[in-house]
Amino acid sequence: MQCKKLIVMIKKFESYSLLLHNTFGIEAKAKTFVEFSSEDELCSFIGSGLETPSLVIGGGSNLLFVNDFDGIVLHSVINGMDIVAEDENDILLRVGSGVNWDELVAYTVANGWYGLENLSLIPGEVGASAVQNVGAYGVEAGDLIEKVEAISLSDASKRCFTHDECRFAYRYSIFKAEEKGRNVITYVTYRLKKNAAFKLGYGNLSERVEQLGGATLENVRRAVCEIREAKLPNPAEIGSAGSFFMNPVVAAPVAASLKEAYPDMPQYPLADGNVKLSAGWMIDQCGWKNTPHEHVGVYRYQALVVVNRGGAKGEDVIAFASAVVESVKEKFGVTLNMEVNVIG
Ligand SMILES: Cc1cc2nc3c(=O)[nH]c(=O)nc-3n(C[C@H](O)[C@H](O)[C@H](O)COP(=O)(O)OP(=O)(O)OC[C@H]3O[C@@H](n4cnc5c(N)ncnc54)[C@H](O)[C@@H]3O)c2cc1C
Repeated sequence: MQCKKLIVMIKKFESYSLLLHNTFGIEAKAKTFVEFSSEDELCSFIGSGLETPSLVIGGGSNLLFVNDFDGIVLHSVINGMDIVAEDENDILLRVGSGVNWDELVAYTVANGWYGLENLSLIPGEVGASAVQNVGAYGVEAGDLIEKVEAISLSDASKRCFTHDECRFAYRYSIFKAEEKGRNVITYVTYRLKKNAAFKLGYGNLSERVEQLGGATLENVRRAVCEIREAKLPNPAEIGSAGSFFMNPVVAAPVAASLKEAYPDMPQYPLADGNVKLSAGWMIDQCGWKNTPHEHVGVYRYQALVVVNRGGAKGEDVIAFASAVVESVKEKFGVTLNMEVNVIG
């Protein structure tokens, strides 16, 4: 289906600094930067297709710019959180892709809708939650996503992806595979619960919730926020993209021999028989928390987070990350893959 043709007002800037659009705090410029607040504005800008390379960004909290972007950077500021269906058990909430993620979580908690509370305080915007399948404390956004609406960058047609079509997996979706770079996500619809259904089995969450007075939406949100604030850098103070590497998944026999060599190694068996390892633990064992480096390092409370200590360029971060990957490979024989989206 094509969008309506309208005379609309998008915001368009040339040679635009992306410094305030990436939480790593890396200076990079976009040749053109475009902000749109509706599907019609976006469609009218795309017209019959963009000829220049394009990049869609949200809050820039999982991006690492290695160079300037010699093309068009598109940013959604589409707002709105609307109930589109409900019954005695569920609410279907359609949310604009430009809505701040934590504002959405706070809104659902305030309304007594269950599902997103474990994902409190994750930086970024709603559009990216479907791309990244954001996850924390045993919950992934994909578990709750009913459908994703998007506009095709090649011909401005409207597209709609069902939950199954999104093919969500650990920090993965179809938008990181064959649909990568092809669409601008405009709305995400979440299926939330009206009745209590908490997931508190991860780490010390349940203990902290008990200390706060027991399982309520507000207490779970508060506990998650407190735990995160204690171990993750605040993007407003320290540049990072959160977890820089994905936790590697290995076959059970590989995990068993690692456990024999390193009895303290944390391991998380998965339903498919494979085992997830802790990238942060392995990086820590390689001594990176204590390795001083001029511009880049790992966060002192969580080795999985690579931080900009000030003045880092994208290439400094890549060089540092490569050294980390090499050391983990040498010590444990395990290859770490980056979670962060490297641009350029
Ligand atoms: C301190 C910190 C803690 C973090 N903790 C977590 C955590 O606990 N769990 C977790 O999963 N992640 C975490 N992250 C990573 C990050 O918050 C998530 O990946 C988040 O979803 C990124 O959202 P964003 O809007 O900033 O997306 P961006 O970083 O701007 O973009 C991410 C990807 O999504 C694409 N994209 C963005 N918006 C759209 C759109 N509208 N249409 C199409 N494509 C789009 C981009 O092209 C890019 O590929 C953390 C990051 C930081 C800095």
